[in-house]
Amino acid sequence: MISLKHLVKTYHGHGAPVHAVCDVSLDVAEGRIYGVIGASGAGKSTLIRCVNLLERPDAGEVWVNGRDLLTLTDAELRQARRQIGMIFQHFNLLSTRSVFDNVALPLELAGLSRSDIVARVQPLLALTGLEARANHYPAQLSGGQKQRVAIARALASEPKVLLCDEATSALDPETTRSILALLRDINEKLGLTILLITHEMDVIKTLCDEVALMEDGAVVERGPVQAFFARP
Ligand code: ADP
Ligand code: ADP
Repeated sequence: MISLKHLVKTYHGHGAPVHAVCDVSLDVAEGRIYGVIGASGAGKSTLIRCVNLLERPDAGEVWVNGRDLLTLTDAELRQARRQIGMIFQHFNLLSTRSVFDNVALPLELAGLSRSDIVARVQPLLALTGLEARANHYPAQLSGGQKQRVAIARALASEPKVLLCDEATSALDPETTRSILALLRDINEKLGLTILLITHEMDVIKTLCDEVALMEDGAVVERGPVQAFFARP
């Protein structure tokens, strides 16, 4: 479902160039949950942002659902991006919009009618446990609830892939568990493929099928989660 081939991304600032991602290749099969772990600065965020081209790699290929995104026209890329949802550490909700209207936003942008939007948003609020919060604003929600809204919004365009950038790093352990359970639920019920990055070993252990360890822009170890933790 996701296949990254020989990705390279270097930042050129004032000092020496930073080789954030150096020749990383990685495959995530359909329906799997794949975790990338590593210390701060290892290149995880740059890598995951390359998967929906929030960051444009300098070299390599980014295959999602059978197409190399780097070869698409702008119109094709807009279409392809609807198949890729993303959630973030700090939720990125719009504070002036209610829960319902945050989740509805991608559908409004896609030009759906109001009745189609209602039909799409209501089941997502039910799935994420937010039915009673539809008319609340982000400032009225706990961190866990905000992340649920972000998840519902990411699912609104019915993506095949969900990218999670440190999605539980701002949450306490109990809330983290409930969000991880929700992601597992979404993976099972919707068959969504999930690629996540984290610096927390527990997230990998709890949720992932496979894991890659990044250091200094490279993948230095990878494998099924069970084998990974069984190593001496
Ligand atoms: P991680 O997500 O594992 O913490 P990042 O991908 O954020 O790693 O960063 C990898 C390296 O790239 C770090 O050295 C970081 O300082 C650098 N970096 C990240 N984003 C930028 C940027 N926009 N400009 C310059 N350097 C950056
Ligand atoms: P979650 O249910 O997502 O794990 P918490 O356990 O942190 O969230 O929140 C417990 C309860 O406190 C929730 O029902 C939530 O509505 C309420 N709550 C948390 N923060 C706020 C806030 N800033 N304003 C209003 N209610 C809040």
